[in-house]
Amino acid sequence: MRVHFLGVRGSTPAPGIEFVRYGGHTSSVAITRDGDAAPTLILDAGTGIRRASELCGGEAFRGTILLGHLHWDHLHGLPFFSAADRDDSRVDLFLPEQPDGASAVETIARGMSPPHFPVRPDELRGSWTFNDVVPGEREFGGFTVVTQEIPHKGGRTFGYRVSDGHTVLAYLSDHCPTLLGPGPDGLGEYHPAAVELAHDADVLVHDAQLVIEELEREAWLGHAAGEYAVELGRRCGAKQVVLFHHRPDRTDEALDAIGQRFTPPPQVTVAAQSLVLEL
Ligand SMILES: [Zn+2]
Ligand SMILES: [Zn+2]
Repeated sequence: MRVHFLGVRGSTPAPGIEFVRYGGHTSSVAITRDGDAAPTLILDAGTGIRRASELCGGEAFRGTILLGHLHWDHLHGLPFFSAADRDDSRVDLFLPEQPDGASAVETIARGMSPPHFPVRPDELRGSWTFNDVVPGEREFGGFTVVTQEIPHKGGRTFGYRVSDGHTVLAYLSDHCPTLLGPGPDGLGEYHPAAVELAHDADVLVHDAQLVIEELEREAWLGHAAGEYAVELGRRCGAKQVVLFHHRPDRTDEALDAIGQRFTPPPQVTVAAQSLVLEL
């Protein structure tokens, strides 16, 4: 599989000269199967998803968009994904089944409809379906995906384990393991859902909104420290950990310094929106 990091920020986009190298778009990752010309699975629809249109090479997007949860930084790019908003697109969008029983399309429409936004999700052009996903295993966009609920803040949140039969990518973009307790090292619990998603993964893409010194003051906002991500990867035997979902005020220089905190194994990569992994 080929993994394109289209947006690597959390919370809100970060334009500006201090953010040029790692990029300012919010969370979105596109995955292309070996032998395919274009991605068939996109994880999250932050502003980075706009860049997925380039990967479609002038064609319409035909595939699945899988949302881990519905916070703005994971959804605001959706109506600006031009390869999906055209008459010949075919999009199956999935989001976590909501505890209140609201349908997938109504759940998105709560934030994407007038007066918040001019267009409703069911007004996007092309052929769209809006669906719930529940924990378990099923096929999405030609990949086998294991879904698990993980702790975050403010809305049901899922992590995903994506496999093409050869390679495994685990994706926990927003994860607050300290909600379950301090764990053995104060970084949060290495709980069964996180371990099931990450074990023996080729790549673990994980929330690194915080660093250890910020955890006490800011963990209540629902995120993990990069140190937790790396230790989870080490405990689970992940080959590579990609630190993801950088806070919007984290400059290029600050992200370089975070990358220097860690020595392999596992290999640690600080996600940039230019990153493409051939796995
Ligand atoms: Zn987020
Ligand atoms: Zn979130």
